[in-house]
Amino acid sequence: MKTFNDLIEEVQKPGLCHRCGGCVTFCTAVNFGALELDSEGNPRYADEDKCIECGLCHTICPEIDELVEETQKRLAWQPPIGRVLETSIARSTDAGIRQKATDGGVVTALLIHLFKNGRIDGAIVTKQTGPFRREPFLALSQKDILDAAGFFFDTSHGMKRFSDYYSTFSQIRDI
Ligand code: SF4
Ligand code: SF4
Repeated sequence: MKTFNDLIEEVQKPGLCHRCGGCVTFCTAVNFGALELDSEGNPRYADEDKCIECGLCHTICPEIDELVEETQKRLAWQPPIGRVLETSIARSTDAGIRQKATDGGVVTALLIHLFKNGRIDGAIVTKQTGPFRREPFLALSQKDILDAAGFFFDTSHGMKRFSDYYSTFSQIRDI
């Protein structure tokens, strides 16, 4: 089974890591302190001894194509961009959303619509926390969703802090 050590060799050392934070966010042992992001958002071992060698970080890294074939098959992917059901051009009818958004505010409008109608309890979005820095957070109100509107030329990384609430650990049992 490949581990984060293989990501270091195959992705980080060749300079392919784009600091998405996926490996840390989904690490099975992140809430036991196996992986962490450094201050620049680069993933690294916090405590290698806590790694249970499950291989999940390697499998889900977008620079690893292990799941590409199966994913494309399951989603009936077609070139050049996948299976397109329909395309349209839209913008929010809410002037307040359009003013805050970069373009038409469609994503913000859709999230607020779903929230107002009880279809979602919240949404994971990002907010600016400093110059060239954004952080993911769980928006639990319309204001939270609106605060996250707009595009900025910066990056956000994984949601490691949510690891207090969830785990990707799956117990394998003989049936
Ligand atoms: S999952 Fe993202 S952060 Fe982790 S090694 Fe791959 S590209 Fe880098
Ligand atoms: S516990 Fe699994 S996901 Fe976490 S570092 Fe080890 S191999 Fe990767």
